[in-house]
Amino acid sequence: MRAIFDDRQWRHDPRHFMANGAILPNPEQPARIDILKAGAEAAGCVFEAPGDAGLGPVAAVHSAEYLSFLRHIYPRWRRIEGAGEEVIPNIHPAARTDGYPKSAVGQAGYHQADTSCPISDGTWEAAYWSAQSAIHGADLVAGGAHAAYVLSRPPGHHAFADLAGGFCFLNNSGIAAERLRAAGLRPAILDVDVHHGNGTQGMFYRRGDVLTVSIHADPERFYPFFWGHAQERGEADGVGANLNLPLARGTGDDAYLAALDTALDRVASFGADAIVVALGLDAFEGDPFQGLAITTPGFARIGAAIAALGRPTLFVQEGGYICDGLGDNLTSMLGGFRAG
Ligand SMILES: [Zn+2]
Repeated sequence: MRAIFDDRQWRHDPRHFMANGAILPNPEQPARIDILKAGAEAAGCVFEAPGDAGLGPVAAVHSAEYLSFLRHIYPRWRRIEGAGEEVIPNIHPAARTDGYPKSAVGQAGYHQADTSCPISDGTWEAAYWSAQSAIHGADLVAGGAHAAYVLSRPPGHHAFADLAGGFCFLNNSGIAAERLRAAGLRPAILDVDVHHGNGTQGMFYRRGDVLTVSIHADPERFYPFFWGHAQERGEADGVGANLNLPLARGTGDDAYLAALDTALDRVASFGADAIVVALGLDAFEGDPFQGLAITTPGFARIGAAIAALGRPTLFVQEGGYICDGLGDNLTSMLGGFRAG
């Protein structure tokens, strides 16, 4: 399987995030790259660097205002006397329709949903190339490849059209799906990350031409809290083109696979001719986030079930944090897909 990664994706090196009022080390560490790369190679992946398709395919799903913010906020932030080393918001609008301020602090609050998407010197460059890797992967699939793996990092599925959050800046899975759609395909995004893919859902919520399905730990008591509930079905042209399958905390392989069957049935009913798998590995029983309890062999079963659909499939890396088993889980998922 061909795999895509660009060395400039190393440049995002976030230091902090805040959880339950405590300032903690940010878990979306560049060291994930070596672990995931080794895991993919163990499954037979051969890595290549992406080309540069420019900002057009990114701006197809993100607002120009937001992209300007991401490109320029860091030097603007550094000009604030006494500012911290990372752009982290400390005030948010009560509603997205409230005014759009000129100040860096105000704009950070407008475009960053939480404290877990700090922006530093290399963030834009890394996010840009993470997105270019996803675009390159989509082009491989649109060009006839049966499958490809994108080591997109920083990840993307919590990023909305104009909002960063949850370690995410540019929505790589959404950008890839839009690229496939522009190539004349009818894509479905299947999000298996332990967290609901709220940014992806938001991006396509009023559209009927891209199906979004997410299986995740129930947001009643889990990030992202405000999205991911079963009653969110889409709006306008998108009614019925969004499916959320929240699972109780601690759900294991068998119940997960049953939910996956429901998800795959919806993908088939949609008539999808290409699948983007938003591939979080943080549903693992040993992941630091402790949302679900998928085992390493369980990931192979997930991969095999996706393969049984028989559609061209693009795997786009999302979450999955440093723990024993992270690399093995990727090997298991991709190996299960190949065997299936
Ligand atoms: Zn996650």
